[in-house]
Amino acid sequence: MCGIFGISGHPSAAALTHLGLYSLQHRGQESAGIVAVDGEQVRAIRAMGLVSDKFSAEAMATLIGTVAIGHTRYSTAGSSTIDNAQPKLVHFRGGHIVLAHNGNLTNAAELKDSLEAEGSIFSSSADSEVIVHRLAKARTAAPEAQLAEALEGIEGAYSLLVAIGETLLAARDPYGWRPLAMGRLNGATVFASETCALDIVGAVAVREVAPGEIVAVEPDGTTRTLQRPPAPVLHRCVFEHVYFARPDSRVFGGSVDRARRALGRRLAREHPAPGADFVFSVPDSSNSAALGFAEASGLPLELALIRNHYVGRTFIQPTQQGRDEKVKVKYNAVREILEGKSVVMVDDSIVRGTTTRGLVSLIRAAGAREVHMRVSSPPITGPCYYGIDTPDRAQLIAAQHDVSEIARLIGVDTLGYISLDGMLQSVPNGPDGFCHACFSGSYPTRPPAAPVQLRRS
Ligand code: AMP
Repeated sequence: MCGIFGISGHPSAAALTHLGLYSLQHRGQESAGIVAVDGEQVRAIRAMGLVSDKFSAEAMATLIGTVAIGHTRYSTAGSSTIDNAQPKLVHFRGGHIVLAHNGNLTNAAELKDSLEAEGSIFSSSADSEVIVHRLAKARTAAPEAQLAEALEGIEGAYSLLVAIGETLLAARDPYGWRPLAMGRLNGATVFASETCALDIVGAVAVREVAPGEIVAVEPDGTTRTLQRPPAPVLHRCVFEHVYFARPDSRVFGGSVDRARRALGRRLAREHPAPGADFVFSVPDSSNSAALGFAEASGLPLELALIRNHYVGRTFIQPTQQGRDEKVKVKYNAVREILEGKSVVMVDDSIVRGTTTRGLVSLIRAAGAREVHMRVSSPPITGPCYYGIDTPDRAQLIAAQHDVSEIARLIGVDTLGYISLDGMLQSVPNGPDGFCHACFSGSYPTRPPAAPVQLRRS
């Protein structure tokens, strides 16, 4: 998964992009980059690691220009290396192309093969580079038409920010898988994966880039839009509401906080835990769902798990070893709260079960008498090909075991997952128009030809 941010028409474009990326750090922690465009001059900084660590004042001072694009990356396609860090910057006969991508393309391997057969040389293993090559070949004149031409035949999920010359382009795939918001800051136009990044720079959210739309912004503020036909049924990723986006954001036209609270309330109705002493969340991603559960169940909400804020998202580690180590240092249980109690632990999802198993033993070691786990998304039974890192069915606990077995494996007394219908009815602007392939197995596109090879290449 990734976070993207772009701005046009502001003298401090790069500095504002840097600020915006702070609010998109949760979408990707492996690498970050900023590219600024100053007429013909384009300057880039990319680094492995966190936004807060990697951009010195000296380096930032080199990023002159009124147009900038930034990216935070978590590798879901291509390996975790600096070559794959974005934004991508290439020079070609028509000048330069800058590109930042959130999502996964499902036919990238085939498109890459045919480009290579025609002589293209790839400098990274990221699927996004396919778009850059196709852009460089586009024959149409207007930048938005070039992007439309390049995207023709590309399948899968993309929210994109592209600069061709000084034109800033924002685009979403016709299914609308990943969010992309548009805002205004005085005369400048700002785009961001989530509205929390508009808030941090002081921009006002105006609207979302529509599924299938390409918005082109010139340095003087002139804006054009090219609407490609949206898919007959949208596939906005419901997991953005469940887990990925920040609760202070609005995505797909609705508040993430409201979505998560509604999920928690619904979960409490579907799987009550009578007799429990209190509810607690696995911070931070399930805080809002736990609040909803507490509200609907009438149980008090306690802060029984404390999260170390200096450790990143446990899951956002490309290897299992990295994840295991982080789980151990990330959470502590509060014995004074848990000792002798029957507790409800609310989490937003169970993927591999590794974090959850570790947490349950932590809670028990702190004296909890009974642990009842409630999950605000249904069992994840299939991989995501559209940008969330759940690629391998063999690693998904719910693809291998039923609910009672999972309860035993993770060590809880009872386990309840929200139903698919319950989830879809709880999110704003549902229940239709959401992708739930990882829960339901209903994939709207062909799966990638070789998802594993693509990821590890
Ligand atoms: P596990 O117990 O190993 O299945 O991990 C579940 C935890 O990972 C939950 O606390 C979720 O909040 C978190 N999580 C679920 N899906 C993802 C994802 N795609 N990326 C990052 N973290 C996730």
